[in-house]
Amino acid sequence: MTVLVTGGAGFIGGHLAERFVADGHDVIVLDNLDPFYHLDIKRHTIDVHRETAADGGGSYEFVEGDVRDADLVDDLVGRADYIYHQAAQAGVRPSVEDPRKYDEVNVDGTLNLLDAARDTGVERFVMASSSSVYGKPRYLPYDEEHPTTPVSPYGASKLAAERYACAYSEVYDLPAVALRYFTVYGPRMRPNMAISNFVSRCMNDEPPVIYGDGTQTRDFTFIDDVVEANVELLTNDAADGEAMNVGSTDNIEIKTLAEEIRDQLAPDLELVYEERHDADAEHTHAGTDKAEELIGYEPTHTIREGVSEFIDWYRDNREWYEPLVRES
Ligand code: NAD
Repeated sequence: MTVLVTGGAGFIGGHLAERFVADGHDVIVLDNLDPFYHLDIKRHTIDVHRETAADGGGSYEFVEGDVRDADLVDDLVGRADYIYHQAAQAGVRPSVEDPRKYDEVNVDGTLNLLDAARDTGVERFVMASSSSVYGKPRYLPYDEEHPTTPVSPYGASKLAAERYACAYSEVYDLPAVALRYFTVYGPRMRPNMAISNFVSRCMNDEPPVIYGDGTQTRDFTFIDDVVEANVELLTNDAADGEAMNVGSTDNIEIKTLAEEIRDQLAPDLELVYEERHDADAEHTHAGTDKAEELIGYEPTHTIREGVSEFIDWYRDNREWYEPLVRES
């Protein structure tokens, strides 16, 4: 079975591709190696894929290319049974600077994939959506009935993309599922995210920097839980046509998260506070009943367990990962 993973050199797509290769599937990764953060992290991920294939997994092919290139997308989708569409211009704050690019990559890029999948027929189209589609919470935890009023161009682009996926499911019978991820973290995570940043700074005796007063809350989801939800969709059709939350259900104040990491790594450091960014969500918290009901999704890692696992991984990989985090 051939699985096309777009954005497969990135954090989440990288873990998906690694798992699919390890499970013996033939994997094609399409990624344009966007320099949003240090490219050596992506190159390391591609090396891990190649090693996993060489260790007796399925086959692996890396294609450097852009989801905005409709001809290339047509060709690759035509060779695939499953599409896991993870490629996106990520990042809430930078989307405020360049909304047009978010539209081109996240919306037009997704449409290229959907058109190709509709024309050639695939077993399933699974795409990464985001908690950013909800915007300001009217109530928490967010369930999928919560209004979707994104407050950033990034959130607007993810909402448009997932609505297209669900509409294609309705109109063209394309089996499509959108997973709304809630701040995913774990090994090889993007360096410009709170957990990698806090850990890296504390490891180097520098205080964690918090934007705002630190009372904003986040539902951090460990990467393994995200991978399991995606793997389940290889065989489970119960969520076709649906968008659903994939979170941890365990939310934490950013200040508490920073304190926990600081206490484990450098207890003498004082936290530093800087001005909050307007586009940042104040609170996120996932209700995961729908994913549990439809695909048996059950998050396995509390934030404390996941952070400890990440710190262990960081220590083991410090030599190559830390310089890349600090240069990003
Ligand atoms: P990432 O930036 O690590 O991965 C995205 C990958 O897509 C990168 O490797 C990048 O090079 C590639 N890419 C970007 N533009 C491309 C293009 N035009 N053509 C081909 N490839 C392109 O981000 P991630 O954290 O792994 O996120 C994966 C997906 O999950 C994204 O769709 C993102 O919007 C979504 N998501 C992530 C989180 C999170 O917390 N990490 C939360 C919610 C949603």
